[in-house]
Parts: sequence; structure tokens; C-alpha cells
Amino acid sequence: MAQGNQSIIIGDYIITAFSDGLFQTTIDVTAPGVDKEMTQSLSGKTLTDPVFLAVNAFLVEGRGIRALVDAGTSDTMGPALGKLPENLIAAGKPLDSITHVLLTHIHPDHSNGLIDGAGNAYFPKADVLVQDEEYRFWIERDLSQAAHERQRGNMVRARASVAPYAARTTRIGDGEILPGIFAQKSPGHTPGHTAWTVTGGKDSLMIWGDTIHMAFLQLQHPEIAFIFDVDPELAVKSRLRLLDQTSADGIRIAGMHLDFPGFGIVRRAKTGYVIAAE
Ligand SMILES: [Zn+2]
Repeated sequence: MAQGNQSIIIGDYIITAFSDGLFQTTIDVTAPGVDKEMTQSLSGKTLTDPVFLAVNAFLVEGRGIRALVDAGTSDTMGPALGKLPENLIAAGKPLDSITHVLLTHIHPDHSNGLIDGAGNAYFPKADVLVQDEEYRFWIERDLSQAAHERQRGNMVRARASVAPYAARTTRIGDGEILPGIFAQKSPGHTPGHTAWTVTGGKDSLMIWGDTIHMAFLQLQHPEIAFIFDVDPELAVKSRLRLLDQTSADGIRIAGMHLDFPGFGIVRRAKTGYVIAAE
């Protein structure tokens, strides 16, 4: 399993990738209804071959800030995941030294890792920054408004995950949230899904959360939805917008489900896009 870390520098910040582990699934689960032959020709995989999606988090350090972008899964998604805390500690980043957790969205593989198995904060000194609409959808809506049982379960867990941080949670909109660090709503995967862009000089890095889940399919065919998209059509629009924006403007990207360490540069291709590794 991928471990350790890899860093890039943007202005005054150093951004380091950390692995929470690998999520094992199959394409027929993650992209139901996707064309069988196309999948085979793009990825060399059948719909039922095992595929492994990375679950990454990124640490942004500089200007007195040590901000973790997303928090992994904790103990909720099996023994191949939940490695983020031990990987941070092994890299000399004590959990109580994390100053902020910037959430791309509230979903089990991004926010469950705010708390340990006993319900205590993994990052006891961190402020949590989360998009306002995202907070309302998962935390404040009545449970009876859940679209289905899985969503209801995620809402229940999300409430437990943010509870220890209640006094230190800031609900944000778009714009510069910390010095040189900008939030940009990219809704669809979830209602308040947010890309975080770290800027410095001429350089910038967009930590784009779940803009791409299955790079082997969605780069060439961004119209392919992911099973856990709350609003698949809107997710496709946001994906296309961010692929266009990052490829046109030379913004480097970091993705939570791109192969570890998840850094890259998006370029237009004959069909769709490619991501060149850093
Ligand atoms: Zn995810």
C-alpha cells in the first residue's frame, strides 16, 4: 500500500499528500449502467474486476498554519483504510498540531476521520472550515428528509463527526478563507462540495476533492457519474468546469481519489482530458 508522503511547494506553503488507504470496489458498483465495451477499452477492466480507489488527504503548511484538507475514514470503512492518523504521526505531524481541517465535503471517506472510534476529536486543536450549504444538508436537515437509507446513515454519522468541533466550526462561502487559500464551491457530488486552492506568486494548486473518482473513465468521459453523486447532472457540470479551468489556467491539481500522491497537471486531450503526474 502506498504510504509516506510527497510534497510540492506553492509560494509560502508546502503541501504534502497523505494516504488514508485504498477503497476496493468494482465499476459495476461505482458507475452502474456504464458501457461495458467502452469501460474495457478505456481501462482494460471488466465491470466486475476489482478496482482500487485511493483515499488521500493533503496537509497545507506555512504562514503559521498547518491545515489538513479532509480527514479520511477513521475506523468506518475497513482495515485497508483509516491510516491517515498513523501516517501523519509517522511523518512528525502530531495530531494536536493540526490548526485547521478544511473539508471538501461531508462524506464518510472525508469527514468520518474527524473522530476516533470512541467519538473523540482526532484533531483536538483544529478549527473546522466547511461550506455553509454542505453543513446545512448533512448536519441541520431533519433526518426524515434523507433521500434514502444510506444518506440517512451518513447524516447520522456526520453529526457525530462534527460534534466535538461544534465550538470551532466556521461555515464558509467562496473566496479567500485563509491567507492565500481560496474556497470555490463545485456542487453536485454533494450540495456544498468545495475545491480549495492554495496560491502563491504565479503558482496555484487546486485541491479539488471528489471532482474525479475514476480517472481511468472520467478523464476521457467526464459525463460518467459516480454512484455517490447526490446530483449527478450537476456533478458533471462542475467536473467539466474545473477540468476546463485547471487545464486552461495551468493550475496544478490534487485529488482525493487520484492514485497516491494524487498531484497532477490537467491537459486537454483529443477526447476529454489527461492528467500528467507532477
Ligand atoms: Zn470521496
